[in-house]
Amino acid sequence: MSYSEDDFIQLSSLQHFVFCPRQCALIHVEQIWAENRLTAEGRIMHDKVHEEGSASKGKMRIERAVPLRSVRLGLSGMADVVEFHRQPDGSWQPFPIEYKRGRAKPDSCDLVQLCAQALCLEEMLSVHIAGGAVFYGKTRRRLDVSFDENLRMQTKKIVLQVHELIDSGFTPKAEYGSKCESCSLNGLCMPKVITKSRSALRYLMERE
Ligand code: SF4
Repeated sequence: MSYSEDDFIQLSSLQHFVFCPRQCALIHVEQIWAENRLTAEGRIMHDKVHEEGSASKGKMRIERAVPLRSVRLGLSGMADVVEFHRQPDGSWQPFPIEYKRGRAKPDSCDLVQLCAQALCLEEMLSVHIAGGAVFYGKTRRRLDVSFDENLRMQTKKIVLQVHELIDSGFTPKAEYGSKCESCSLNGLCMPKVITKSRSALRYLMERE
């Protein structure tokens, strides 16, 4: 299967979808965006990483703000950093690194986004990529990620789900949860109000 350029989705949409499908639809279907302190800090961190430019260190080359695409998955976006490690046979092995402002999260959204970057690089460069890393700014920890079969399958499944969501043009209903407290769209989505009025309505209907 291959996608035409018009049907490409952004790599960032995968992370938004894993965090909250409604957030994904608000951003990528309804084109709504709002910034809060967390997204602003994340944007500044990415800008800094991208500005540092390319570098070489011994048997390693570092490329920043690398454009990515996959026709097979209908994906496009950018990798913060791709390290290229020189192999004994003279080839260069890519190793993508994603920078995140905070700390490692309980869900797999960062891993899915990184794995999707690796899938794009594999298609673009015709190589196999075994692993990459997520660097967390708050803890200054680098989490090594193995692109095993489970993560690859999960990532491809999410890519399909995001294509379906965006094609449908449908925005799922708000479901209030702890994630809403850190969501920059909270003020526009109003999940507490919507969830409460829906529960009240359901209660009234069940009493009838
Ligand atoms: S406020 Fe909550 S329900 Fe609304 S988009 Fe954000 S995470 Fe999703």
